[in-house]
Amino acid sequence: MAVMVQKFGGTSVGSVERIQNVANRVIQTVEEGHSVVVVVSAMGKTTDTLVRLAGEISQKPSQREMDMLLSTGEQVTIALLSMALQEKGYEAVSLTGWQAGIETEKVFGNARIRNIHTDRICRLLEEGKIVIVAGFQGVVSGADEITTLGRGGSDTTAVALAAALKAEKCDIFTDVTGVFTTDPRVIDGARKLESISYDEMLEMANLGAGVLHPRAVEFAKNYGVKLEVRSSLSMESGTIVEEECTVENQLVVRGLAFEGNVTKVTVEGLQNELTTLSHLFTMLAENGINVDIIIQNVNENESMNISFSIDSNVLDDTISVLETNRHRLGYESIVHEDQLAKVSIVGSGMISNPGVAAKMFKSLADQGIMIKMVSTSEIKVSTIVDQEFMIKAIETLHDVFELDAREPVAYK
Ligand code: ADP
Ligand code: ASP
Ligand code: MG
Repeated sequence: MAVMVQKFGGTSVGSVERIQNVANRVIQTVEEGHSVVVVVSAMGKTTDTLVRLAGEISQKPSQREMDMLLSTGEQVTIALLSMALQEKGYEAVSLTGWQAGIETEKVFGNARIRNIHTDRICRLLEEGKIVIVAGFQGVVSGADEITTLGRGGSDTTAVALAAALKAEKCDIFTDVTGVFTTDPRVIDGARKLESISYDEMLEMANLGAGVLHPRAVEFAKNYGVKLEVRSSLSMESGTIVEEECTVENQLVVRGLAFEGNVTKVTVEGLQNELTTLSHLFTMLAENGINVDIIIQNVNENESMNISFSIDSNVLDDTISVLETNRHRLGYESIVHEDQLAKVSIVGSGMISNPGVAAKMFKSLADQGIMIKMVSTSEIKVSTIVDQEFMIKAIETLHDVFELDAREPVAYK
């Protein structure tokens, strides 16, 4: 019997009524003749509430204890959904991450799934049970420690399970009807896409489109999992995420992503030597600091300035690492600029269409929006701008690249 994996996010399981609604949707799929594995998130904003609670106890809680705490959210939902299904006369079993055989690396707070032992789930499915798995959590093999997969990680649980079980499809049910050209809660004219390629979706997710966890898209791409993002509250079909979408000529840009809370750090007066860059960035990496865009400038006196962007939350750690190693790095000063945002355009069509970046820069300049940093790949252009202009920039680019003008197109 074909296995279907269905994932329901926080809003979709945010109340008893919503859990009943989820149970009904699951039953519908069972009645269509499928074996169903359901992955759920914590109810509503539970995870945020747990994070806040921890913050009231400790400014820097132990990451192990954080995972112990946060993993409880999903456990509530699996039990309640299982009860709801049982009340409706269906056999259902809830499993935590470790009971479902989800093994991760030993990285608290942001673990990657290493392996899934599917024997227990397969046995339960063969017995005709509906299996409900807690999203966002796993266990370190051998160490018997609970880990979590990073915020939004229930998507990854679902897609990884779909890959391991060779499921026919993985449905990600959420609070919007699919993947849109940009966040529909922020930009009025955002339009739902019928389909999007794995690569485009991966860029969008990495660049701030919170609708899918980036690692979920990575799994889907690597294992060819057929993914549909859709609403748990409507029967409307959603957005298919798949390998290839034939992009129409005009649809050079498929979507826009944005995220605030960016800081630009500039290390001034470094020696322009062979190993300067490697020393600087190795030091930051060894201290777990994730650097995004990097710009190198050689000054007239042959010294060098390096600018890089980071998440504003790690500014203090970054400065502390740089100051501790000032002698080794031999720089003159550090300056930083915060209240910045990253605004990106994404689309496979860019590969064969020159002038896309130029069009983006010109339209932002026409609006008086100063671009402070740029980074590109074959299918995206990202710019760093003042956070106060972030929404205006997205609205402008949505218009300029005519993202709301078109009817949804069926690609392929
Ligand atoms: P869930 O709890 O179901 O996992 P999330 O809040 O993680 O839901 O993701 C859904 C949200 O993603 C939407 O409510 C929307 O605000 C946001 N979002 C950001 N970018 C996009 C996009 N391009 N298309 C659709 N939704 C997006
Ligand atoms: N509950 C977790 C979070 O809020 C995981 C998820 O919802 O995907 O981040
Ligand atoms: Mg999510």
